[in-house]
Amino acid sequence: MRESRDEEREPNRKDVHPMLRKFELIVIGTGEAGTSAAYGCRSEGWEVAVIDSRPYGGTCSLRGCDPKKVLVGAAELLDWQGRMVGKGVRSEGMKIDWSELMEFKRTFTEPVPESREHGFTEDGIVPFHGAARFIDERTVEDDELSGRYLLIATGARPVKLGITGEEHFHHRSRPQ
Ligand SMILES: Cc1cc2nc3c(=O)[nH]c(=O)nc-3n(C[C@H](O)[C@H](O)[C@H](O)COP(=O)(O)OP(=O)(O)OC[C@H]3O[C@@H](n4cnc5c(N)ncnc54)[C@H](O)[C@@H]3O)c2cc1C
Repeated sequence: MRESRDEEREPNRKDVHPMLRKFELIVIGTGEAGTSAAYGCRSEGWEVAVIDSRPYGGTCSLRGCDPKKVLVGAAELLDWQGRMVGKGVRSEGMKIDWSELMEFKRTFTEPVPESREHGFTEDGIVPFHGAARFIDERTVEDDELSGRYLLIATGARPVKLGITGEEHFHHRSRPQ
C-alpha cells in the first residue's frame, strides 16, 4: 500500500529540477504591469522574482510612451511653426536634427534597464533574464523558477503602422 502510494505520488519538483528556485510570485515581464505587481506583492512581504527576455523596463519606458513624447514633441514644434508661416512667424532656421533628437531620446531610455533592475534588487525582488517558458503550470525555465503564483505580464506587440519611414525610429543617423 505504502509503496504504491509512493509510486503514485507526484514527483517533488526539486527531485526533477535540482536547481529549482521557489518564489511566491514570479512575474514574467518588467513593463508597467509587471513592475507594479512585483512591487505591490513584495511590499506585502512576498518572495518575488521577475524575469524578462529583453532589457528591463518594457514598452512604455523604452519603446512607447516616453520616447514617443520626445519625438512627437519635436515634430509638433515644427508643425506649429509651419502653420504660422505668413501669419507673423518666419520659417527660416528651425529644422529637426535627427541624430541630436535621438541622442536626447536616449537620455530617457538608456538608463531605464539598469535603474529598474537596481530598484528591484534594492527592494528584495530577485531579477532574472531570459525568455520564460512554462514547463508545467507553476514552473518556468530557463532559470527553473517555481512560483505559487505566476503573473504573465508580457504586454502586446504594436501593430505596424504601415507608413514610409517607420523603420527609422531606432536609427541614430537621419533617414535619407
Ligand atoms: C509607440 C507607443 C506609444 C505609446 N504611448 C502610450 C502613451 O502615451 N500612453 C499610454 O498610456 N500608453 C502608451 N502606449 C502603450 C503602453 O506602452 C503599453 O500599454 C504598456 O507599455 C504595456 O505595459 P505592459 O507592462 O503590459 O507590457 P510591456 O511594457 O510591453 O512589457 C512586457 C514585457 O514582457 C517581456 N516578455 C514578453 N514575453 C516574455 C517571455 N516569454 N519571457 C520573459 N519576458 C517576456 C517583454 O520583453 C517586455 O519587457 C504606447 C505604446 C507604443 C508602442
